[in-house]
Amino acid sequence: ETALPRPSEPRIIVVANQKGGVGKTTSTVNIATGLALGGLRVLVIDLDPQGNASTALGVEHHEDVPGTYEVLLEGASIADHAVASPEAETLSVLPATINLAGAEVQLVSSVARETRLRKAVAKHLETAEVDYVLLDCPPSLGLLTLNALVAAREILIPIQCEYYALEGVSQLMNTINLVKGELNDDLRLSTVVLTMFDARTRLSSQVADEVRQHFPEQTLDTAIPRSVRISEAPSYGQSVITYHLASAGAEAYLKVSEEIARRGAKENA
Ligand code: ADP
Ligand code: MG
Repeated sequence: ETALPRPSEPRIIVVANQKGGVGKTTSTVNIATGLALGGLRVLVIDLDPQGNASTALGVEHHEDVPGTYEVLLEGASIADHAVASPEAETLSVLPATINLAGAEVQLVSSVARETRLRKAVAKHLETAEVDYVLLDCPPSLGLLTLNALVAAREILIPIQCEYYALEGVSQLMNTINLVKGELNDDLRLSTVVLTMFDARTRLSSQVADEVRQHFPEQTLDTAIPRSVRISEAPSYGQSVITYHLASAGAEAYLKVSEEIARRGAKENA
C-alpha cells in the first residue's frame, strides 16, 4: 500500500460506455478500491438498477435499502444513504436497488431531470471530505446515465479488447459532445482503460494499438488482462484486489489506480 497523491480538488469521474459487458462495473469497483487503499477518500455512486457495483463492494442493496433512488427521486442527501464498504476504510458506496429501474421512467416527468445528481453531488462535496467520486452507469444512454454525465467532470471509458471495440465509442463521443454543449461545459474525456486484454492473441494487441492511436493522451499504459480472478471476485462481494492480491488482475488494477491518481495530481499542479 503506497500512499497515492491527493488531487487538489475532488475528481468526479463517470465510467461510461453504453455497451454492456465491457468492464464498466469491474473497473469502477477495482479502481475505487485501488484509490482507497492508496489512502484516498472515495465515493462510488451506483446508478445501475442491477446494483453490481454495490454487490462487488460488499454493500447490501435489497429493495428496502435506501440509496441512489432516494437521492435522485426523493431529494435525500448522499450523506444520509452512503454506506462504508468493507473493501477499504476510506471507501463508501451509495447503493443501487432494483427501484432504480423505475427511476428511468419516473425521471422523465420530474423537474430538472438531468441535473438532479449534479446538485446532490455538489451539495455533498460542500461538507464531505472526498477525493474521488466514481459513477457506475447502466448499459444505456438513458436519464440515469445522462444524470451521471451531467454530474461528472471527467469521463473514463473502458474499452474491451475485442472485435468492434471502437464501435459505439463514436456514438458515445457524440453524446458526450451534446451533453458538453447543452448541460455540462466541464465534461471531458480524461481516461481510457483497455480491459480484457489477452496477450496471447493478436486481436487484443491490434485493438489496443488502434485505441491508443485514437486516444493517445487518454489511454492508460496499463491494460487490464482477461482474468478468471477478476470475474470471480464479485461473487465473494469483493474487489479482485482483496479477493486475490497476488493475481495479475489485482496488480493491473492497482497500477491503473496509481496512473489515474498520478495523472490527476500532475494536471492540477
Ligand atoms: P459492464 O459493467 O460494462 O456491463 P462488467 O464489469 O459487469 O461490465 O463486466 C462484464 C463481465 O465480464 C462480468 O461478468 C465481469 O466479471 C467480467 N469481466 C470484467 N472484466 C474482466 C476481466 N478483465 N477478465 C475477465 N472477466 C472480466
Ligand atoms: Mg455494469
